[in-house]
Amino acid sequence: MTPVGPRPLDVPEGAARRVRRARADRIDRELYEEEKHWRWHPGDGQDPRTVSEEALHREVALDREVTARLGAATSSPARERRDRERRRAKHFPVLFVSAPHVEEGATGAFPGMPTPLLYATCVLDRMLRIDEFPGTRVPDVVAVLNPPAYTSAFEDELVAHLREHRPVVVGISNLSEGHHFALRIAESVKRECPQSIVLLGGQHEDAVNPEAYRAASNRVAGMASRRRETHDDFLLGADELDRLAPLQTFARPEERDLVDVVFAGDSTFALAEVLKVVAECLPTDAESVKKRLLADQERFAELPGVGSLFLYDRHGRRIESIPLSGTPVDGDRLPYIDVTRLTHENRFPVFGHRRTAQIMACLGCKYSCSFCHESADAFLYEQPKIRQRSPCHVMGEIRLRRDQGFEAVFFDDSTFTQNRRWLADFLTLLEDLTSDHRPLEWGCQTTVNDVDRDLLRRMAGAGCSYVYFGVESAEPDTERVQKVRQLLLVSPATDWTDRFRDVAHWCREAGIRVGTSLQFGLGESPEQRLRTLDLVAELHRDGCIPDGCVALNVNSPYPGTRQWLQIIQSGVALPDYREKLVRHPAFETAHQFSAITGQDVEDLYRLAADRLGGALHQQDPA
Ligand code: SF4
Repeated sequence: MTPVGPRPLDVPEGAARRVRRARADRIDRELYEEEKHWRWHPGDGQDPRTVSEEALHREVALDREVTARLGAATSSPARERRDRERRRAKHFPVLFVSAPHVEEGATGAFPGMPTPLLYATCVLDRMLRIDEFPGTRVPDVVAVLNPPAYTSAFEDELVAHLREHRPVVVGISNLSEGHHFALRIAESVKRECPQSIVLLGGQHEDAVNPEAYRAASNRVAGMASRRRETHDDFLLGADELDRLAPLQTFARPEERDLVDVVFAGDSTFALAEVLKVVAECLPTDAESVKKRLLADQERFAELPGVGSLFLYDRHGRRIESIPLSGTPVDGDRLPYIDVTRLTHENRFPVFGHRRTAQIMACLGCKYSCSFCHESADAFLYEQPKIRQRSPCHVMGEIRLRRDQGFEAVFFDDSTFTQNRRWLADFLTLLEDLTSDHRPLEWGCQTTVNDVDRDLLRRMAGAGCSYVYFGVESAEPDTERVQKVRQLLLVSPATDWTDRFRDVAHWCREAGIRVGTSLQFGLGESPEQRLRTLDLVAELHRDGCIPDGCVALNVNSPYPGTRQWLQIIQSGVALPDYREKLVRHPAFETAHQFSAITGQDVEDLYRLAADRLGGALHQQDPA
């Protein structure tokens, strides 16, 4: 089926001039300096002021439509009414929600910007910012809800937005830990606005996509001599693959009434395309849009991105998938994320509660720890293990955030310093920026393997004041915590405890505060637990780890990790993250699927609180 474009329309030169002038004014007035000199991505050499034929026709047609309905506006109230009517005729409301993963009272979690959701919407956002959405009707993103916790106040806020805006589309993003709440949000949407089209995507949907596991297993089977030990985890038989099917969204009949389209994999370009389809179908409903998506599948096969859309075809009574092109998305060819519509401000306590922007310079991690989805995800979706943006692209985003009034930056990369050459280039640019302006305070997370004394000094000189190390344990199991094995490979005589102690002291010398996450339930003995807590307590006493910088975690098998693949192969029942998770408020992670549950978690917390005191992270209860 051919997409429906604007009807042919004669555009008088005067009308075209007015539209072009309005566009130029909009770019000058509404965009920050750093956003004004490119069209689709920084450095593309295209002018955002150029009005495409499609946008020109839409704007002129809207003017004619509104004038025909209301007549010429000759007074100020008439012009205001006309503008209101024009806005209403042009737009259809869209709401985005980042599903929280904790409830009221949680103190161990770190709320922050919903960067995965913002990356998913960034292409759409750019179209909207420069008024180049390719449709006769244009999405109006009425809000991006990013509640720190699932509370009754959040439910009220959600319902208020639904009642006020009656969104045509609601997009929800989820992590496995927040999947239960994502489904509850979808339930609220369908209860309040049964006509709304609900889109669901996020790391959880990526990780319960049976097609990705099947494809990865087939690739491993065909690898022959190139196959390494870590690949074997991805090799699944037919019975094992069948065990995944019940976990996929839409596997349960009731989910087919709550969710209309699921995104698994890259959704950056696919989301904008789905909204184009919605715009073409208006006025519409979910079933009509799904029919159009199935009929127009080839549109998606041309889009950058790896992964698929899923929907439940009521007519065929089966889950259908619509694959993307399979070409990885190039981070340098994406616009900056739009952080201007979030409902909750981001202020990191480690930066003195100042406005903090989160930036992702690189996706993926070179290590392969069994409990972490960072590297397994890449293999599941046949992506490069590390997908790095260029230092220049990242610097542009930093300049934009400064213009927007952010006072600190936290890099969301799982292992920010893993590529030394990239980091050296980036730090050079950052040093140039801060030599002309006031220093920018920033922080990152990485491993103790990937820093040294000189590097930490240089990072501190460029504004770094905080580094979060996933140390996990004083004596981690090297099979599961692969970064430890890697350290021993490059430096056989190095002990993990000594390494962390050295790194923490180098940080203190450089003026960098250290944060760390501890992970329990990795098979450690009670004595090893005590040694872990004592090590951290010692570094807290030594002034390396400040108050509130230690996070407690219980190991849990998350979909999309090697640990998850091992559970599939073991035949043990797979955890279902539709369930409401049981968590201790002071822990970052839930524990009912863990080796440590019930009273043992409380005992562990008491032990940690006793040994670590003020070092423990204590977020103000949400
Ligand atoms: S080093 Fe960290 S981010 Fe990388 S795989 Fe291990 S736990 Fe994940």
